Amino acid sequence: MQLKTDLYIDGAWVKGDGTLPVTDPATGSVIAEVATAGEKECDAAIAAADRAFKTWSKTAPRVRAEILRKAFELMIAESDNLAKIISMENGKVFTDAKGEIAYAAEFFRWFSEEAVRTPGDFRTAPAGDKRILVTHQPIGVSLLITPWNFPAAMATRKIGPALAAGCTMILKPASETPLTAIAIIDILERAGVPKGVVNYILPSKTGAMISKILHDPRVRNLSFTGSTEVGRVLIKEAADNVLRTSMELGGNAPFVVFDDANIDDAVAGAMIAKMRNGGAACTAANRFIVAKSVAQEFTTKFAKAMGALKVAPGLDEGAQLGASVSIKERNKIADLVDESVKAGGKLELGGKTPDGVGAFYPATVISVDAKNPILNNEVFGPVAPVVTFDTDEEGIALANATEYGLISYIYSSDLKRAIRTAEAIESGMVAINRGVISDPAAPFGGVKQSGLGREGGFDGIHEFLETKYIGVEI
Ligand code: NAP
Repeated sequence: MQLKTDLYIDGAWVKGDGTLPVTDPATGSVIAEVATAGEKECDAAIAAADRAFKTWSKTAPRVRAEILRKAFELMIAESDNLAKIISMENGKVFTDAKGEIAYAAEFFRWFSEEAVRTPGDFRTAPAGDKRILVTHQPIGVSLLITPWNFPAAMATRKIGPALAAGCTMILKPASETPLTAIAIIDILERAGVPKGVVNYILPSKTGAMISKILHDPRVRNLSFTGSTEVGRVLIKEAADNVLRTSMELGGNAPFVVFDDANIDDAVAGAMIAKMRNGGAACTAANRFIVAKSVAQEFTTKFAKAMGALKVAPGLDEGAQLGASVSIKERNKIADLVDESVKAGGKLELGGKTPDGVGAFYPATVISVDAKNPILNNEVFGPVAPVVTFDTDEEGIALANATEYGLISYIYSSDLKRAIRTAEAIESGMVAINRGVISDPAAPFGGVKQSGLGREGGFDGIHEFLETKYIGVEI
């Protein structure tokens, strides 16, 4: 497989101020050396995006839509290769990577359809003597920062609406997973995105250079997906130039199983909600909050299903749980489990870091009490703490006992009870009797410290549009 490794600025593949190794976390071997951007390249990317905005923002929505549609088709046609790149640099298993590509490509298709349908409106002022015209215009140069856990989907979820809206952009992926971003940029170039509209950089000094970009008056919008910790820093940075910001941050999703739930269905849903992407998802079920009367049955069946997973390098035949993205991330997971056990958590499965190369961690289930520290942290790995409750109120209080509010899962055979709970739970998204609800056609996003704004659905394009009111005297 021929991998591109350069930066992409103003329609050209260019070298930067150095290189960064990209490592396969399953083997520890270096798979590529990618170019890094210095101040000169970062500035060139802003200048290119600023120049291109003048024409791209005026390009007919239909033309923008056709380019996005072409990018969708290329991604689907090349999905095996793209999935291999994801597996190699991120560690996730090939089936998860293929699933991610299908999901990621769908953002291009969805926003190709949205590009031609941004509604405005025409109103009569209450006094009757004026007209109110409401229209939407692209914000301008947008900085898109993405994490390593979904290196394709988190990029397309931003690039799709930004292109559809008429914005130009600078994409900055996570340092662990730039190859997927580069492959997507290559597809966009082949799909016909004009030069300067999409630029890709990988700063050699992330914090300092991103700060500089955010203080450049040519940049008008920041769309960030990553940890709450970094999100807080970036909100402060963005405040100086009063930038529009969209923040998709961390999660600590509760998975509530009521006593009337079908336990086999709940276990099947738990396997998806917990193990998609090896547990490295902001949407991953992180706290299993289970009615006491069914907790034994749920935990036994869940631990059995978790224990049956084949742990292997992502590209191995039949692999179901791959490596974490790095040894550092794997060790974070191991530390959280050790701390949980020290605080009284009872290991039902796993919990021991394997010897040998590769950032592997086994599927782990721990029974804990409500005070266990693991419940306060986003684990980002194949670890499932189970805590029990007696009354619905107690279960809901446990679900809400977190600073995060991205997604929640509820299992119950009583729809009224499930909807009452969904309304009482503080999260931007709720899945009822389902282990996954991410959908490009639905608004994705969190409340509390899980973020600001929504991506996907009808809302996603508005993260890249300003509303303009034109008043007319008649
Ligand atoms: P992260 O450490 O916050 O990094 C995310 C991105 O921010 C990376 O590109 C990183 O670049 C960059 N970054 C780090 N420090 C920065 C700084 N000081 N200034 C500017 N940029 C900076 O997150 P991660 O570990 O990659 O991803 C995992 C997190 O993302 C989890 O918390 C997860 O819940 C969250 N996430 C949320 C969603 C959602 O939709 N809500 C989706 C996926 C993931 P470098 O790699 O160069 O440091």
